[in-house]
Amino acid sequence: MSDTHTVINQVPLLEGYNLFTSDQPLVEAVAREQAEQGENTEWARDLLVDYGGVAGSQESYEWGRLANTHEPQFMSHDRFGNRIDEVTFHPAWHALMRQSMRYSVHNRPWNDTRVGANVARSAQHYLLVQTEAGHACPITMTFAALPALRHQPDVAAEWEPRLLANEYDPRFIPADQKTSATIGMAMTEKQGGSDVRANTTRAEPIAGGGPGGEYRLTGHKWFCSAPMSDAFLTLAQTDAGLSCFLVPRFRPDGSRNDIRIQRLKSKLGNRSNASSEIEYQDTWGRMLGEEARGINTIIEMVHHTRLDCISGSAGIMRQALAQAVHHARHRSAFGKRLRDHDLMASVLADLSLELEGAVALMARVARAYDAADDEHERAFARIATAIGKFWVCKRAPHMIYEAMECLGGNGYVEESMLPRLYREAPVNAIWEGSGNVICLDVLRAIAREPESLPALLAEIRLGTSGHADLERELAELQSQLAQRDGIERRARTIVEKMGVLLQASLLVRHGPAAVADGFRAARLGGSGRIYGTMPASIDCDAIIERATPTN
Ligand SMILES: Cc1cc2nc3c(=O)[nH]c(=O)nc-3n(C[C@H](O)[C@H](O)[C@H](O)COP(=O)(O)OP(=O)(O)OC[C@H]3O[C@@H](n4cnc5c(N)ncnc54)[C@H](O)[C@@H]3O)c2cc1C
Repeated sequence: MSDTHTVINQVPLLEGYNLFTSDQPLVEAVAREQAEQGENTEWARDLLVDYGGVAGSQESYEWGRLANTHEPQFMSHDRFGNRIDEVTFHPAWHALMRQSMRYSVHNRPWNDTRVGANVARSAQHYLLVQTEAGHACPITMTFAALPALRHQPDVAAEWEPRLLANEYDPRFIPADQKTSATIGMAMTEKQGGSDVRANTTRAEPIAGGGPGGEYRLTGHKWFCSAPMSDAFLTLAQTDAGLSCFLVPRFRPDGSRNDIRIQRLKSKLGNRSNASSEIEYQDTWGRMLGEEARGINTIIEMVHHTRLDCISGSAGIMRQALAQAVHHARHRSAFGKRLRDHDLMASVLADLSLELEGAVALMARVARAYDAADDEHERAFARIATAIGKFWVCKRAPHMIYEAMECLGGNGYVEESMLPRLYREAPVNAIWEGSGNVICLDVLRAIAREPESLPALLAEIRLGTSGHADLERELAELQSQLAQRDGIERRARTIVEKMGVLLQASLLVRHGPAAVADGFRAARLGGSGRIYGTMPASIDCDAIIERATPTN
């Protein structure tokens, strides 16, 4: 009690609840995409009910806060002057890593033979980022590294058991002495991140070289996140061209490999995660896959990290929306709950539609990874991952900003968590292929993988029949694609249309009428450019109801 007044009209804390069971669109999307695979879906539901409680526990929220308040510290030297290149983390970071690895978020599809493992894992990743998104970086990179490692079976045979282990082991010792290992990625250099062919890091063979062979690498990497990982997939030039290498923190003889951390980046968000600048000097590594085919090898990793950019963005959007809807249910102004004011309802419903689209797209794309042996699904995954990476990640910052505003001044204050979510939001659009690069990648997929566009259009068409607005938009998309002149200039227009159409098609087929009709009216019907400018016909109450976090 305050001495001067009674505190009223502040909302109860929304923490310590089941992030899965309280999220109706997610529950439905997971069940749907599992059922589409024709198998018993119960295992995934049981897993996610369990994990949703753990990821959303009060303790997880607290770890998230602590890991971002007490940022990682870089130590170049020990107290005796020896170079050590170590980064130390708050115990909360380790607790989060331990929890996420215990639940296999870093390896599920490679470890879990049940049908639907990718859908379940994407849902887990979506839940994980809601309390702490920074540690998702090493979790994702470790998950994504395995398909690239398999380009070199002898190296994969050595490392796979470590990546498939679920006991987190943060000790800075050689990987063969550890219970598990994590993997990072070192592609970006000062002169270019998107244009990795401009990499200048050199790799010299030690004894002949070639696939699986030993090399000495010399050069730098301008961004290298999770520098305490046990090894890094690295791009470097040989005489033949850009090649991929696995560079561990320790050499085979147990001595420290020469990976010098120059400094940690001071970043807008993602602050619990150490992102560093590193230098290699005669640093030991082994070639993965064919020489001069480095992009071909590492692209397998990038394909999977992009999948996580979708679930990562969707997850933080969900957390922001849940806080906004919760706030508006409990806070009153001008004599009634915020939620009951027409204009607030319009904003909340619009934000809810954004999430409905993001979740439906995320789960559908994840299902395509489960069916990677199916040619159609593989072609669909190729193009839809890029579309989802572009569209969902682009929507996140604005969406989270509007959710923040729903909380008024409290939303701008760190304790509300919204500032952290907002600072986190842009990074998924920047890394793993920034917006323009992704749009150009969609055009590349269309040109080089002729099955990809038909697979996308077939999926969209499943929902267009009888809906003039969808038919019209699809015809407009096809007309845009047919005009080859200036297509690069129009790439954002095209990929945005693809993203919206894919979401609309999914929601028309699978969403309740209020959501499907609302999404069409709001995204295809000429609403304004900001959230909350939808046609009056939309059933806001029904849409918000689904977004309301209730256990
Ligand atoms: C927090 C954080 C962590 C990161 N961690 C890692 C990591 O662990 N490992 C790693 O390798 N990298 C990492 N990165 C680097 C990241 O992947 C790159 O920043 C990203 O790929 C962009 O590269 P760049 O910064 O060199 O920008 P540039 O390549 O210079 O691009 C700048 C802008 O130009 C646009 N652009 C580029 N080419 C074209 C074109 N042809 N047409 C039109 N527009 C174009 C891009 O879309 C972008 O908007 C990290 C980045 C961040 C922010």
